[in-house]
Amino acid sequence: MSEASETVAGAVAERFRELYGADPQGVWAAPGRVNLIGEHTDYNDGFVMPFALPHTTVAAVSRRDDGVLRLHSADVGGDVVELGVDALEPESDQGWTAYPSGVVWALVQAGHPVTGADIHLTSTVPTGAGLSSSAALEVVVALALNDLYDLGLKGWQLARLCQRGENVYVGAPVGIMDQTASACCAAGHALFLDTRDLAQRQIPFDLAAEGLRLLVVDTQVKHEHSTGEYGKRRAGCEKGAALLGVDALRDIPYAELDAALGRLGDDEEVRRLVRHVVTEDERVERVVSLLESGETRAIGPVLTEGHASLRDDFRVSCPELDLVVDSALSAGALGARMTGGGFGGSAIVLAEVADVDTVTKAVEEAFATAGFTPPRVFEAVPSAGARRVR
Ligand code: ADP
Ligand code: MG
Repeated sequence: MSEASETVAGAVAERFRELYGADPQGVWAAPGRVNLIGEHTDYNDGFVMPFALPHTTVAAVSRRDDGVLRLHSADVGGDVVELGVDALEPESDQGWTAYPSGVVWALVQAGHPVTGADIHLTSTVPTGAGLSSSAALEVVVALALNDLYDLGLKGWQLARLCQRGENVYVGAPVGIMDQTASACCAAGHALFLDTRDLAQRQIPFDLAAEGLRLLVVDTQVKHEHSTGEYGKRRAGCEKGAALLGVDALRDIPYAELDAALGRLGDDEEVRRLVRHVVTEDERVERVVSLLESGETRAIGPVLTEGHASLRDDFRVSCPELDLVVDSALSAGALGARMTGGGFGGSAIVLAEVADVDTVTKAVEEAFATAGFTPPRVFEAVPSAGARRVR
């Protein structure tokens, strides 16, 4: 463990002691993630390829045997929130505590003997930036309870439970990518994940060794209509699958895309959604094979193609995200795309080490000229998945 995370773990344990009057039984960390390629494919049973960020949620946790769940976040402030495990009720909580409570609820629902916990946490994952602070929060709690209650669940099983908590308890219709990424990613790798059966393969993605950098540009905008638009896209994809007679759009092979589009007739809206999902799955497979054959630079144009598809066919981009991509590419980046659900959030930019400053400056200047809020730019190093740190 790095010195920095040892310091964070120590501070979190210390604050836990102040809040709850005893040492925590352990400290765990779970990362946020960036999706390299494979956007809006996870609810179509398709492929995704996230990697973990160095940014983590760190939680100090002890188990309790009296049915009480106590929650505190250093980043929210306020008092400790105390809940009864047996009284947890889906969609009863609009606040941040719904995420950890949802995990406890999902574990209990699945028959696991979880009888309470004291939890204090803090996070360096930016919230609402499309970097999955919510999954980091869920997974760190799930992993801690898995260890403390000796549940013996694997990473992908914890991810499923976290997703169920977020879908049913929080009430957010999210796919399985974020939780799996946080639970299962490995340092120096991207995770090639088949969201249908959660089959996974660690793909070497060591940017530093290649003289490359991957920048995350957080636009700091979140457009209001994002939740409604996400629901519409999901419904449109389901309609496409139903019209084509398949369980999910994942079942349309790339080679049969044109024929499938032909069968959709003049429903232009559905045609566009289908075209994005089918071509995006193919792009993920292309990126996997390029990385496995050591052609890391060659993924740049595939990322950029993915952005065009999200902007023009799936229509989930926004002026800020498009400006990141256009200005970065004009300044010499190898590739760039929005990442995450869209309508704001973050974009990623692949660039040669030597071009990083020029590219960063170009994006910042373009934002200033457009009168947009200055973006937050940082380097993303493919990092470890969830783990116990103490
Ligand atoms: P994203 O997952 O893209 O960051 P979400 O809207 O899915 O955005 O999740 C963000 C929410 O997760 C926050 O509004 C808050 O409720 C919760 N959250 C994330 N990190 C923390 C934290 N450190 N402390 C408390 N709540 C957090
Ligand atoms: Mg989230």
